[in-house]
Amino acid sequence: MSIKQEHQKAKSTLGRFWQSVYEFLETIFRPVEWIGHHVILLPFRKFLESLDPLSYKLEGTLIKRILQVSLYPIFMTLTFVIGFKLVEDGFTVRSFLGTIVMFIIFGFIFAPLERLIPFSRKWLGDKDTPTDIMLFFGGKFWGDYINAPIRLATIAIVVQEISPEIGQGWWPSYLPGFVQVLILLSVKDFFRYWYHRWMHENEFMWRWHAIHHSSERLYWFNGTRSHPLEGLVSSLLWGIPLAFVQAPVAIVFVTGLLGRTIGRFQHTNMDVKLGPFDYIFSTPKNHRYHHSKNIEEGNSNYGGDVIFWDILFGTFYLPKDKEPSDDIGIGGMPNYPQTFIGLMLAPFTYNSIKKEALKLELKESERNEANEMPDADEKKSAHHLAYYNK
Ligand SMILES: [Zn+2]
Ligand SMILES: [Zn+2]
Repeated sequence: MSIKQEHQKAKSTLGRFWQSVYEFLETIFRPVEWIGHHVILLPFRKFLESLDPLSYKLEGTLIKRILQVSLYPIFMTLTFVIGFKLVEDGFTVRSFLGTIVMFIIFGFIFAPLERLIPFSRKWLGDKDTPTDIMLFFGGKFWGDYINAPIRLATIAIVVQEISPEIGQGWWPSYLPGFVQVLILLSVKDFFRYWYHRWMHENEFMWRWHAIHHSSERLYWFNGTRSHPLEGLVSSLLWGIPLAFVQAPVAIVFVTGLLGRTIGRFQHTNMDVKLGPFDYIFSTPKNHRYHHSKNIEEGNSNYGGDVIFWDILFGTFYLPKDKEPSDDIGIGGMPNYPQTFIGLMLAPFTYNSIKKEALKLELKESERNEANEMPDADEKKSAHHLAYYNK
């Protein structure tokens, strides 16, 4: 039996209940993903493919080098300039429509640039994009209509009960705006760092976060790939500290925008060269290691916006003598779902995915023994499945 057939069989090991839920929802959503891939994305794919000859021509040129070093500082500076200009014009609230417009603008700029100067040509496909779009909208609705009211209610209680006495006067409003933004970004990311680390080091938490690591490639949009329930806890976790620091609403707004820019770069397939920024922010280079199939590389670089908490707490990983691999994902679980419904249900079906992955691994090593191939013991000891199976 081929590995693929074995993966198909993996689904049948689900309990009868999950099996029928799975199949029912898959019949509805599979066609949506199919149409997304084969119809909706087709014109974009054709346009992006037409850039390939130019991309090959750019190899080794000065223009490429300039793009590689300048894009990041340009985008970061533009975010500050546009952010503070919007604040001046009275925009301080991020709306649903505003977020979508921002992602469309990012897409029109990032997708062609990724095609022109890719880190990995293997990552240029778009098979997973419809799934990511569905996850984005699902997560957005859940975030705005379920997470946000819960977070606001919690923050309101905290502010009402404790914060007025404690929080007053803490925030350094006298500092320049961009410094305040960087301070808020770092405070927020301190809490995010520990939550993210907990999700990697604890298997129950990992079953929610694994969805984010299920991507087999990195590109500008898939930073949004995550399970909505992961967001519920995380938004509470940093919502409460934010209620205490009481930063001005304009600073919160610009910090949110900067986080969006950092997030698009963090997952981009653009081969940017960032030098010192790799030691300050969560950048594509250090985040690629975070998505490694090898757990010793993957359980590192937890920072969402900044990276210096990793440096401080000993989880920073950026060797000088090598480049991150483009073979990424969840190590040891080749049967991890890749469809919208599969991913939504994955935290609940995690045990059977894991059970099947163990069986597949056993078969693989039997096959290797039969062919007298050296078993990949070293590789096995360092992947996700082995880590959570200790
Ligand atoms: Zn992670
Ligand atoms: Zn990521």
